[in-house]
Amino acid sequence: NLDSLDKIVSLSKARGFIFQSSDIYGGLAAVYDYGPLGVELKRNIQENWWKSMTQFHDNIVGVDAAIFMHPKVWEASGHVEGFNDPMIDDKQSKKRYRADMLIEQHIQKLRDKDKDDEADKLQEQLDTTGTRKGLCEDLYDIIMQEEIKAPDSGAFDWTEVRQFNLMFKTHYGATSSGDDDAIYLRPETAQGIFVNYKNVLDTARVQIPFGIAQVGKAFRNEVVARQFVFRMREFEQMEMQYFVEPGTDEESYENWLNARMEWHKSLGIREENLRTAPHPEDKLAHYARAAADIQFKFPIGWQEVEGIHNRTDFDLSRHQEYSGKKMEYYDQKQQKRYTPYVIETSIGLDRCTLMVLCDAYREEEVDGDTRTVLKLHPKLAPTKVGIFPLIKKPELQEVARKIEHELREDYNVLYDESGSIGKRYRRQDEAGTPFCVTVDFDGLEDNTVTIRYRDNMEQERVSIDKLGDVIRDGMRN
Ligand code: ATP
Repeated sequence: NLDSLDKIVSLSKARGFIFQSSDIYGGLAAVYDYGPLGVELKRNIQENWWKSMTQFHDNIVGVDAAIFMHPKVWEASGHVEGFNDPMIDDKQSKKRYRADMLIEQHIQKLRDKDKDDEADKLQEQLDTTGTRKGLCEDLYDIIMQEEIKAPDSGAFDWTEVRQFNLMFKTHYGATSSGDDDAIYLRPETAQGIFVNYKNVLDTARVQIPFGIAQVGKAFRNEVVARQFVFRMREFEQMEMQYFVEPGTDEESYENWLNARMEWHKSLGIREENLRTAPHPEDKLAHYARAAADIQFKFPIGWQEVEGIHNRTDFDLSRHQEYSGKKMEYYDQKQQKRYTPYVIETSIGLDRCTLMVLCDAYREEEVDGDTRTVLKLHPKLAPTKVGIFPLIKKPELQEVARKIEHELREDYNVLYDESGSIGKRYRRQDEAGTPFCVTVDFDGLEDNTVTIRYRDNMEQERVSIDKLGDVIRDGMRN
């Protein structure tokens, strides 16, 4: 029941999930910091992904490659030449826009006016000429012919369209000067896996098919980045490259697409908010033979959260060409040599966190009041159990503290004694805490507490000895 990201943005700020970076200086556009609750949520998602890859597959191993890489890597990968967005400036306001996004907005306007034929035609043109594939002239003509205006100023005084490389460049080493020392911040984590493919093969006793997983930061100088953590300039990716024998790639691609969709469901994301969207062949990236997005229905529409790609032998072949090192695999059983194909699963951790927040967010009417609640899967919840003495009395505090210390061994818990019990419950609802435990005077008599469930607000009396079991069962749902 969300129609924009606004509520997520304000809840994130108010409750300490996500803050704008350098907030006290007015913020840095498209860069965000995770607060106490956000860092736990993000870490839980990451750990869940990591386990699903490495612990649950005996043929997937992890690496943690550096952010800085040899400049040749980005020549081999095609990023120096091709990782561009078509950018256009409004001469009057000096604001920058992505040319393809301007056209997308124009298409939407046409649709709003029921001019679907015109919109379809333009969409087709955009699909074949748009985004990172170049051919800016066509886009430029469309913008000029249609008199597309800047969305916020309404002005219409454009510069030429330029290809803008999204990689951040910096200088490497203390004596750096000039372009010779230029080095990039990695725009994706995948290349750190490809350049270590040989190292892993030689040390990890893996055989094809096998995978390498990695989580890490990536940087893209996005032209437009106004959608909270959906599109950032510094973000985190969770990628897995699965190396297979050519000929088995199509089956493996289908398997991974299915497996990844199941993972999203396992986070508790509602099925009606998830779908797969295969890329049409003429829109495939230069390296890909097949690709599909796993999309989520964000308040800003259906958008990609994860990409599954059949990258063929493009990357390994290019690295073999640029480095001069052999990337072939000798298959002992079949006694033959080949360059493996790669099936890639690539998901943005921040975008995934945003998906989880959007899917969990609910506003419910309770006794004429609105309750805001995050119905997070218990395994993702930043805090698992809130523990409250009903009032600030030493007898109650002592029992509550004891329960806190016991549960702390297994869970992230929070002790809270301030404010009315109702307010304390609501605070934990907004934080997504699945269980709250209240210690009252009756319980002192018979060694019981009240456990209150976030989702249905039901309360149950349980014996303190059984509390651990009840929470353990609840965590599985
Ligand atoms: P988009 O079309 O949205 O720019 P992409 O197709 O370039 O994305 P990939 O290069 O396939 O994205 O990256 C894989 C995943 O990394 C995406 O599905 C997304 O979750 C995440 N991602 C990519 N760019 C960003 C960004 N600027 N901010 C946050 N997450 C991102």
